[in-house]
Amino acid sequence: MKLIKRFILPFSIAFYIILNLLPAVETASVPCDKTDNDMRVYLTFDDGPIPIITEQILDVLKEYNIKATFFVVGKQIPGRERILKRIYKEGHSIGLHTYSHKYTKQYYSDDALIKEMLKTREQIHGVLGISPSIIRFPGGSMNRLSGDLLAKLHSNNMRVFDWNVDIQDGKNGSTPVNKLVRNAETFKPGYTRNIILAHTNSTNINTVKALPEIIKYYKGLSYEFVPILDNTPEYYFKFKQPVHTNNKPN
Ligand SMILES: [Zn+2]
Repeated sequence: MKLIKRFILPFSIAFYIILNLLPAVETASVPCDKTDNDMRVYLTFDDGPIPIITEQILDVLKEYNIKATFFVVGKQIPGRERILKRIYKEGHSIGLHTYSHKYTKQYYSDDALIKEMLKTREQIHGVLGISPSIIRFPGGSMNRLSGDLLAKLHSNNMRVFDWNVDIQDGKNGSTPVNKLVRNAETFKPGYTRNIILAHTNSTNINTVKALPEIIKYYKGLSYEFVPILDNTPEYYFKFKQPVHTNNKPN
């Protein structure tokens, strides 16, 4: 007992004091969705990896030193592992966008959707050794996501990300560049976290061309480009509600 009082106890107290005096250190190696800037923009590209277009998008992002998010389709990966590796190596984040991208197949049931996401996750793991947790529904979660499905997705470590800005390059890849830029600039006043939907299909040549203007526009407004990470707050459309209704990703 004497020994405890004389040596161990004072030593423990001193150790405790020293520990508390040390400044809080953030782990530098863990990417964190936290910046000094409140105005954030998440540039997201669906449907890749695609030769040439995805690579050209990566070139532009590199030129402007921007990190983005790529929601990839499982069936697109075989033979294009090099592009997937490049996305990852250059610091962009990777999310799941189903395996088949076939609406009748993936939306046949909740389980069918989860199965497709898991299959794509496995594929990515096989190439990169990572298991993405961020997902995007092809066509968005609107009228597809229910409380039940959301709970199932969460139990599979999947978090849903829709968007609140659509440049509208999905259905028509040949939409003029200036229209794509204008679409990218359309957001509700007060949005401080804009999630921009863009695509990286083989037809999206104009998306590549519009990208520098979109980047310059948001930079001019002091937005910071950040990728969607594991700690980014989930963002999905309200269940059974149209897009852009009272749905602020803040
Ligand atoms: Zn898609």
